[in-house]
Amino acid sequence: MEKRNIPIALPFMGQEEWEATREPIFSGWITQGPKVAEFEKLFAQRHKVKHALAVSNCTTALHLAMVALGIKEGDEVLVPAFTWVSTANAVMYCNATPVFVDVDTRTFNIDVNSILKKINPRTKAIIPVHLFGLCANIDEVKRIAPHLKIVEDGACASGAGIGDRPAGSLGDIGCFSFHPRKSVTTGEGGMLTTNDDTLAERINMLRNHGASISEEQRHKGPKPYILPEFDMVGYNYRMTDIQGAIGVVQLKKLDTFIDERQKWADYYTEKLSAVPWLKTPYIPETYKHGWQSYVSYVDETKSPIKRNDLMEHLQQKGISTRPGTHAVHMLGFYAKKFNIKPSDYPGAYACNEYSMSIPLHNKMVKEDYEYIVDALLSIK
Ligand SMILES: *Cc1c(COP(=O)(O)O)cnc(C)c1O
Repeated sequence: MEKRNIPIALPFMGQEEWEATREPIFSGWITQGPKVAEFEKLFAQRHKVKHALAVSNCTTALHLAMVALGIKEGDEVLVPAFTWVSTANAVMYCNATPVFVDVDTRTFNIDVNSILKKINPRTKAIIPVHLFGLCANIDEVKRIAPHLKIVEDGACASGAGIGDRPAGSLGDIGCFSFHPRKSVTTGEGGMLTTNDDTLAERINMLRNHGASISEEQRHKGPKPYILPEFDMVGYNYRMTDIQGAIGVVQLKKLDTFIDERQKWADYYTEKLSAVPWLKTPYIPETYKHGWQSYVSYVDETKSPIKRNDLMEHLQQKGISTRPGTHAVHMLGFYAKKFNIKPSDYPGAYACNEYSMSIPLHNKMVKEDYEYIVDALLSIK
């Protein structure tokens, strides 16, 4: 087969997104305004929640979720040990302590059986991550720890769900990302979801310096010269209307993107079942995967090649791969600060060493998928 060049991810954007930016640019209203509001409304509808609030990225969304829930110094927040570093960083921003919980190597998500032993009177909240687009078992989290606030890190999980309950509607607050590595993108961008009116109001103020009313309300209201009240220390975590306009177009394509990814994920899983040392993604019954990434697990006890050598081999063939994500407890800052050994979280350690993401995105064509499957099947 002729050599191909297949990146791990590519945003799917074009003429429509380009044209959508015309209105905010020419209207003169480019910070958070009508386009962000439209994006939020669509996002809330799709994820079956009362409120959706756009912010600058998912990391700031997670930070605001912590602040809105009143997380502060002395509090502990449970975080899976295998996730993107910002899940834990968001807890650090509040001077609270992230307490790691091991993950299940089959789902890459929080191991619900490890939660109970991490809970003490200081534990206030838990941030289950819907990693790679597969929802964490939130029902079980609620059963085990009914008193904890739940913030879903759904950075990878736009459009995912359990049965007909979408990600973002399962806990107290949901947080999403529109970074280009995710299924829909606004360049950078994030969203918070909640069904709680009080939390929504607090988040709305926190993202805008703590102002009691938004700039748009003030400028378009009868007394634009009267500045709002500031009763809290807020942040500027707003999304621009240029991004909001792009988000509206992208969100309308979300389900088509996921359907196409689902089709090719099924193709991978069927073809790669012939590779006995590669564990393809496990999806519990009734779960709807969002397919931000297709992440397998290389069983080095059976494989003729180590995971890192396999990634190098595929790179030589023009196929980009990545470890699924990293074990946060093994990263320099966290390992030192909390004196953690890699072996303290064996599940997260294993995922760090043996997970492998292969390309799955909406710019890929049939020949790309065939080429990748062929490359993996030919490893003896
Ligand atoms: C991408 C990602 C984030 C961070 O999202 P940003 O929008 O880049 O801040 C947080 N958590 C998880 C699990 C992610 O995959």
